[in-house]
Amino acid sequence: MSYEVTATKKRPQNFDSMVGQEFVVSTLKNSIKNGRIAHAYLFSGPRGVGKTTAARILAKALNCEKGPTDNPCGECDNCKAITKGNSLDVIEIDGASNTGVNDVRIIKEEVMFPPSSSSYKIYIIDEVHMLSQSAFNALLKTIEEPPSYVVFIFATTELQKVPATIRSRCQQFNFHLINADVIASQLEKAANDLNVKFEKSALNWIAKEATGSMRDAYTLFDQVVSFSDGNITMSGIKDKLGLTGQDKLNSMVLSILDNKVSNAISDLRELLAFGESIEQIIKDFIEYFRTLLLLSQGITSENILGISPSEFPEKIKTAFTVEQLEAALELLFELYRNIKYSIDPVYEFEFILSRLSHLKYLASNTSIITRLESLKTNIDKMPFTDSKKADIPDKLEPELPHIENQLKIQHQESKKPFEIAKNLFSGVEVEI
Ligand SMILES: [Zn+2]
Repeated sequence: MSYEVTATKKRPQNFDSMVGQEFVVSTLKNSIKNGRIAHAYLFSGPRGVGKTTAARILAKALNCEKGPTDNPCGECDNCKAITKGNSLDVIEIDGASNTGVNDVRIIKEEVMFPPSSSSYKIYIIDEVHMLSQSAFNALLKTIEEPPSYVVFIFATTELQKVPATIRSRCQQFNFHLINADVIASQLEKAANDLNVKFEKSALNWIAKEATGSMRDAYTLFDQVVSFSDGNITMSGIKDKLGLTGQDKLNSMVLSILDNKVSNAISDLRELLAFGESIEQIIKDFIEYFRTLLLLSQGITSENILGISPSEFPEKIKTAFTVEQLEAALELLFELYRNIKYSIDPVYEFEFILSRLSHLKYLASNTSIITRLESLKTNIDKMPFTDSKKADIPDKLEPELPHIENQLKIQHQESKKPFEIAKNLFSGVEVEI
């Protein structure tokens, strides 16, 4: 038997096996059950989430010998022909390569002939937004007064490019991105079907990489299966796909935290010497700080994080505030956007590593102002032993170098803390 990719093998053949589009599925099923069959449907949504699959299932539901039914049998000649893609009454057209008015003219002529062996003659037009304006105009007349046996199912990833005149004549369904945990559980079934062992974290990683597309998830899954030798592991994926290992990332961030930038830079050099690309290392860093940000906001679900929280040392998990992590991500996102214009992305990343080592001194203007205000109140309350010299209580002294440090870091963003500091110390001459 020839090799069949998982996306094809696992393509749902009826509404009940479709995942992640519950609203669309239940509405379609109900309208078929109640005999409310529209002459034109418009399925919109991101790629790889099931629009064409739903169109084919709807075609089967309408043309099944036991139909119209919300649960096509999959066994009759009509169902089988649609599954194989050779039904004479279900015509699939790729809007991207049949964009002209002549293509639509052919459809207009064809629709005059009734279906050969089914109840309906169904046109599935994928990427319908690619049709030209004149093609849309020609199509419009057919949709307005179609023969009773004709059903159009349009699919598009770019709803806004479909003219309003067409949209308003269709029953519209919006397909959504599929949740990573739904994708992961489908991958688990696929792995079990193949008798392949797996680490859950590895499947979660694939699900997260697929960013909501079931088709992309299956494609990546097939790639991972092909090199996994019957056992899908996270370390295998990292090895083969050139991802930076979590240990290396932990070690680099610990170095940054201890202000040992030189250690982080030698780790970076090691990764580059090992053949990893600087783009991938920056992406891994973004991923790393994103996970820390989500953890600091109380999110611990492995499905959302894509990694187990236990993979991070306790010291790192508690080292940064939300604000500091946001600042780190800002630096990294900006770096990633700019690398293509850089004279040397590696130099830029070294520079960012150095900046990240100051992260723990970063504070928002608001928190600096609050600290200064409370310092001012405390100084106002202080007993002065001499009109020229303030007696600064011991508890305030450790506070001052810290505030000074924060001011240095913040000074480019706002002058406000400086102004407050100036006011604060203007009336008092203190010896610090
Ligand atoms: Zn059937």
